[in-house]
Amino acid sequence: MFNAKLGDGTIISMTDKWHINELRELREKRTFYCPACKSQVQLKLGESKLWHFAHRSNAACDKLIENETLYHLLGKKQLFEWLTAKKIEVAMEMYLPLIRQRPDILFRYNHTIYALEFQCSPIPSSVIEERSKGYLQLGMIPLWILGGNRMKRKGPHSFQVASFEWFATRKTDQHQHLLTYYCPERSHFGILQQITPSSSTKILASYKEKPIRTTSLETILTPTIELNSTLFDQWLIVKKHWRYYHPNPYPTRTEKRIQTILYRHRIPPSLFPIEAGWPSYNHYLITSSPCYWQTFLLLECLQYQPLNQPFSLRIATQCLQQHIEKGFFLPRRLTGDENWTHAVMGYLYMLVQIGYLEQVNTEHECYRRIKELTIPTTVEEAVSFDRALLKRLIGHITNDRNLGPNKGISVEKTNI
Ligand SMILES: [Zn+2]
Repeated sequence: MFNAKLGDGTIISMTDKWHINELRELREKRTFYCPACKSQVQLKLGESKLWHFAHRSNAACDKLIENETLYHLLGKKQLFEWLTAKKIEVAMEMYLPLIRQRPDILFRYNHTIYALEFQCSPIPSSVIEERSKGYLQLGMIPLWILGGNRMKRKGPHSFQVASFEWFATRKTDQHQHLLTYYCPERSHFGILQQITPSSSTKILASYKEKPIRTTSLETILTPTIELNSTLFDQWLIVKKHWRYYHPNPYPTRTEKRIQTILYRHRIPPSLFPIEAGWPSYNHYLITSSPCYWQTFLLLECLQYQPLNQPFSLRIATQCLQQHIEKGFFLPRRLTGDENWTHAVMGYLYMLVQIGYLEQVNTEHECYRRIKELTIPTTVEEAVSFDRALLKRLIGHITNDRNLGPNKGISVEKTNI
């Protein structure tokens, strides 16, 4: 950390201009204390010029600050200087006694106070969630920026995102998730946008980098996102993979369950319905691959609804709930009011768009099934049908001004 207190309560900050000799003298004569836990801290005057304070033992402050590597210190300093240069009111490591938290950086912009956390090491999701809640409680907006060292690229458009990092995502006005990174070694911001998960940890997304010196604060606070249509084509590759590598020789419990259901319906695993395995609205709220839970919903619930007979959304959510409770499908629990039923609703909305269902009553969320599923006969046919359906979906997505359904239904809390 860069700040410490002297015995008389004066705050001394390494972000101010100091000469090494002044600091050496100070270190000999005075004792420094952590402003948060009040324990004694050491002034580190290394050659890196990143002069900073460190606890003798981390115990008391463990929850308050990140295990500070030079990478973290450097990034924090550069972000602080970036804001200072913009003449923005900014404070480093200010301790907020009311919530007992210490954001890396606090700044005020357009009458709003932002609590910036620069996160380079893994932490439990619950800690991110708790800290964000604390800031919101004080009317501050949490802004999580991940260390550039956390960016895990797996291909031109595929990335890996750890479950705790989902809590650092932000949702744009266009209902798109994004993650912001900063790399102090390269002095670059990185923005991972249009985050579209294909499994619990894999995502498709587009990634942009920008040098810090030419980046405005607005670019980071309210980035505008242009939907990249190549991501849709990438999704076809993901789907193709599911078809060609199905069945997995070492299936997980969920895969085994889906295989059993498919066999019962006399469908070879690679020929799961064309209507399943799509990035429908809010599908990220269920971490399991949409190929599995959508196949399950189609074959175990929707396909049993008699043609042209109304049924309610609740029938679909109840059917999935049993499998969620048994742990076959895992909900992604994020801060906010959304829950996995929004994923079911988003999927039914998509099924209406592609003409498998029809919405009967919007207010009571009633649907009816108006056609049979499309089960391909060969993998080649499946791939070509998938491509044709994607074309129709893109047409709907680009013309859809409602951006999908916006309500979900409440579910009884389970201990999942
Ligand atoms: Zn401390």
